[in-house]
Amino acid sequence: MHRTAQRLYDRDRVVAGVEKLRFFPLALESGQGSCLVEAGGRRLLDLSATWTACGLGHGHPAVRDALLRAAAAPPGAGALSAVHEDAVALAEELLELTPGTGDRRVYLGHAGSDANDVAIRSAVHATGRPAVLAFEHSYHGGIGVAMKASGVHVEAGSVAADEQVRFTPYPDPYREPERHDQVLVALDEALAGQDVACLVVEPILSDGGLVVPPDGFLAEVAARCAAAGTLLICDEVKVGLGRPGTWHAFEHDGITPDIVTFGKSLGAGVPISAAVGPAPVLDEPGASALLTQAGNPYSTAVARAVLATYRAEGLVERAAQAGERLRQGLREATAHLDVVGDVRGRGLAVGVDLVTDRAGRGRDPSLAARAVYRVWELGGVVFYVGGNVLEVTPPLVITDDEVDRAVELLAQGIEDAAAGRVSDAQVAPYAGW
Ligand code: PMP
Repeated sequence: MHRTAQRLYDRDRVVAGVEKLRFFPLALESGQGSCLVEAGGRRLLDLSATWTACGLGHGHPAVRDALLRAAAAPPGAGALSAVHEDAVALAEELLELTPGTGDRRVYLGHAGSDANDVAIRSAVHATGRPAVLAFEHSYHGGIGVAMKASGVHVEAGSVAADEQVRFTPYPDPYREPERHDQVLVALDEALAGQDVACLVVEPILSDGGLVVPPDGFLAEVAARCAAAGTLLICDEVKVGLGRPGTWHAFEHDGITPDIVTFGKSLGAGVPISAAVGPAPVLDEPGASALLTQAGNPYSTAVARAVLATYRAEGLVERAAQAGERLRQGLREATAHLDVVGDVRGRGLAVGVDLVTDRAGRGRDPSLAARAVYRVWELGGVVFYVGGNVLEVTPPLVITDDEVDRAVELLAQGIEDAAAGRVSDAQVAPYAGW
């Protein structure tokens, strides 16, 4: 049996399906920079670093060095792990990086899910208000109230709707530009009862379809939250940390959220997350969950190395430049394809909206599933979100040559899939997520 096929067979025999991500038959051996190496040795361009959680590129020596340093003198990685130098220094660095006023604290956690869960629960405790507000089609986590506040989970029935959590529409400049005012009216109504502890928002809706809200939208949201006494939590887990071409995606609208959450690329593959917010909220003892490994020495050492590397290599600026080249290239290379309705995004968070036809803008989820399969066959790893949108989020270290290669791969993959080179039957075993 071929090595990839063998490892997939092994995986299906031993790894729980509950956490399985399936888009195409992928089994990985290693990675280097923007490349992933499949079992068997084939090199693939990683266009999904928000899933591989590695903004600074695979196999970066800074990550290895940080792990070795932490391992050489481990202060213990259990329940007392957050009281060591790297945890304190990382918290200081995140405070410095994140705009805010007054006395603030940093929760150090494991994954985007627990950072959001802690942020939401702390807001509920600190404000004494019962309700939580989130956006339709949002994603904030796979556990606790972060999962219940994830539109995509509730909409898919992965978790029961909770009375405590309400949803309000997110704007959609591509499909429903005229809806923008209604979105704000709905938000006003949702906040009117003065019972909402917090509103959690993705500055760019990612798993819901890589939707970039209209300019100024977050400022409108922030003003409404401030007026209603509702804490604004900006979830930067997926598209933040340099990817949008600025350190934070919310910077685009010039706002200062009450709480900002981080995850994914902060750990370059090692589990770590953070929530930065007001001391009276994040010091709230009633919200304590006391997760044993939170802020452990290995993860915090790596996160510090990640931040230092982003600075040393100018990766935030790189994301802005490479993203511009990627979007421009994709627009040109797909102009002749009537099934590419929209190429949008900010920095290296790019969405390619696949449609039945450009004029009608109807979503084409079958084409998205076939296109990601075809791109994998051609040598790239890309996934889809929102059912029909290719989410193109390479590591920030992607070179210009690799960007050009990404454009070729994606345009070819979409064209081939649209021409029927991949069938629905071929992708049927890979139902996505
Ligand atoms: N927030 C956002 C915006 C996300 O996209 C995700 C993961 N898709 C999470 C939170 C949860 O992060 P994790 O899977 O690391 O728990």
